[in-house]
Amino acid sequence: MTESSALEAANTFEELRLAPELLAAVTAMGYTTPTPIQREAIPLVLAGRDLLAQAQTGTGKTAAFTLPLLHKMRSFANTSTSPARHPVRALVLAPTRELAIQVYDNVAMYAKNLPLRSTVVFGGVGMQEQEAALRAGVEVLVATPGRLLDHAGNKLALLNQVQFLVLDEADRMLDMGFLPDLKRILDLLPAKRQTLLFSATFNDEITRLSASFLQNPLKVEVARKNSATELVEQVAHRVPEDDKMEALLRIVRVRGISQALVFTRTKIAADKLFRRLQRRGVEAAAIHGDKAQVDRLLALEGFKQGKIKLLVATDIAARGIDIAELPCVFNYELPYHPEDYVHRIGRTGRAGASGLAVSLVSSEEDKLLAGVERFINRKLEISPLPSPPPPPPPAAPVQPVAAAVVEPAADPVVGAYGRGRRGREQQVCALFLPPVRIDQDGSTPE
Ligand code: AMP
Repeated sequence: MTESSALEAANTFEELRLAPELLAAVTAMGYTTPTPIQREAIPLVLAGRDLLAQAQTGTGKTAAFTLPLLHKMRSFANTSTSPARHPVRALVLAPTRELAIQVYDNVAMYAKNLPLRSTVVFGGVGMQEQEAALRAGVEVLVATPGRLLDHAGNKLALLNQVQFLVLDEADRMLDMGFLPDLKRILDLLPAKRQTLLFSATFNDEITRLSASFLQNPLKVEVARKNSATELVEQVAHRVPEDDKMEALLRIVRVRGISQALVFTRTKIAADKLFRRLQRRGVEAAAIHGDKAQVDRLLALEGFKQGKIKLLVATDIAARGIDIAELPCVFNYELPYHPEDYVHRIGRTGRAGASGLAVSLVSSEEDKLLAGVERFINRKLEISPLPSPPPPPPPAAPVQPVAAAVVEPAADPVVGAYGRGRRGREQQVCALFLPPVRIDQDGSTPE
């Protein structure tokens, strides 16, 4: 029996022997049982081992490293106001701002019953607020590599007392060219420390990275790259490039999808789709690397609150997005890298919930489709697009004084066509659909 399988017996958080303060926080989060990565990783981290963990976002990996690290750090917890009593003891590196924020949010929630401080630093925003938090002292620092080096260069992030290092989504950090930054950060850390590397995929580069960062690590795997989140229903439709937006809206309407993340390959495509959706009155937003940080955060917040129905995103910007029970993901364009397909569909069906992943595949994307199928080790069956819903029944006669006639509202996601600028698509639709009566209070009759 391997070391990790011997520990699989832990079916509750209590059995994992976490401190009561952490158990209380976990209960408050509504978790009842540890996920597989948590069952495997937590005992090993508690035992002080370095870890090479293969786990995708959505598996509960953040708690898998945060809970045992907080447990181990609780003896340092103190309420002193002196910054010297709060050195950085745990450093978590993440590839994107969104993921860094999300990890930090998790850390703050799990640590809420312990006097341990945490903060997050990432680029694209001013330094001042981050500097103030660092000056005050924090035990857990979550950071993107570039901004961390800025703070380290200014002597505000002192890393010589770091005992725990986590590399989260290490494969993505390498993809994004962070290797030189990671090496510079490594030089600032004590050699004696515990290091945990999490990566959705393993390849030679990750192996090389782990050889220079980790010591005698144990390997933990919870989802193989070709298992492609079995809980997710995967559907593919053949759609010419120009018809994709109509297909998207039709599927949303027919399947009654309340919210979806819509992936494009490029920033330009994301912006273009967003503008077209907006013209159609859809509550949409787009996030990608060229968007100002504040806009990205606003879009994410709007999506989490349900105000944004369709969030258009590129692969990199979508890393770290975690929305509880996100019902659906669209591959509006298939990704260039097949592993991104797995990351994308991992956004739905998280932590045990079932989800839907719809791919709209044009004939120009056949090669990409073949790559995805090879990667996930199964064929994606192409099914016909759902038929359009029947036209609404004829509207009641219009009351001349109490009501006004406007162009029709087509579905729950698409708002009234009359709103916003009049695009050509709106006018075309108006030719085919009967007018809808809107009463003076703005409501439409059933
Ligand atoms: P992660 O893989 O860390 O991004 O986590 C994915 C989602 O699973 C997050 O929304 C977590 O809050 C949630 N989660 C983590 N651990 C558990 C658990 N043991 N039970 C239920 N949900 C969990």
